[in-house]
Amino acid sequence: MPEASVSESLSSARERLKTALSAAGRPEDGARLLAVSKTKPANMLRLAYAAGQRAFGENYLQEALEKQQALTDLDDIEWHFIGALQSNKTRDVAEHFSWVHGVDREKIARRLSEQRPPALGPIDLCLQLNVSGEASKAGVDIDDLPILAESLLALPNLRLRGLMALPAPSDDRDQQRHAFRQVASALAELQRRFPEAPLDTLSMGMSGDLEAAVLEGATIVRLGTAIFGSRPPLGS
Ligand SMILES: *Cc1c(COP(=O)(O)O)cnc(C)c1O
Repeated sequence: MPEASVSESLSSARERLKTALSAAGRPEDGARLLAVSKTKPANMLRLAYAAGQRAFGENYLQEALEKQQALTDLDDIEWHFIGALQSNKTRDVAEHFSWVHGVDREKIARRLSEQRPPALGPIDLCLQLNVSGEASKAGVDIDDLPILAESLLALPNLRLRGLMALPAPSDDRDQQRHAFRQVASALAELQRRFPEAPLDTLSMGMSGDLEAAVLEGATIVRLGTAIFGSRPPLGS
């Protein structure tokens, strides 16, 4: 992707989000854009930053840490870890990220809280919900959600902010919406149970299904391809 087009595709992505929010009858600031920059070089993130983007999502820890090193001069950049998280990586994530999406085990959350440097303030976290039709086995079963949420809400250096979902890709808008609706209603149920908790986040919607996610209440959409262009296939 030519460099000039990072800012162009970013502004198209912003426009797309704005249109989706308006079509859903939601306020213009109802959802924000997370720029998913996995596999993309630091200079492309720098271009997006120059065009006003602050929140970046990374999946692979080592790659992310290298980019963070290369971009230490960028103030108020916000790093989100959105990949699968094993327990041997929690310390680096606790020390170098503001947000974690995609946690589905208490053990991981507990370690993040224990390893979070208190000076950084609590780490913001979304639990990954296993929605029906999910391609992977990742994610919490909906029945296990309340108990897990309750134990996470007790952790001192972690703030449970809501739910994340990664439904199987589908070209069918109704099918997309069906999956996102499950996530939204699971969050509503948690909000009912834990009215004092800061549960305000639905991290859902990617380049292929942003509109459906926004219709169902997404507050963070995670866009990679739409901003930075396509990626090499996994494993290549
Ligand atoms: C790669 C990735 C995205 C971005 O996907 P695109 O289809 O490129 O927009 C979003 N969320 C997660 C968890 C990802 O791994």
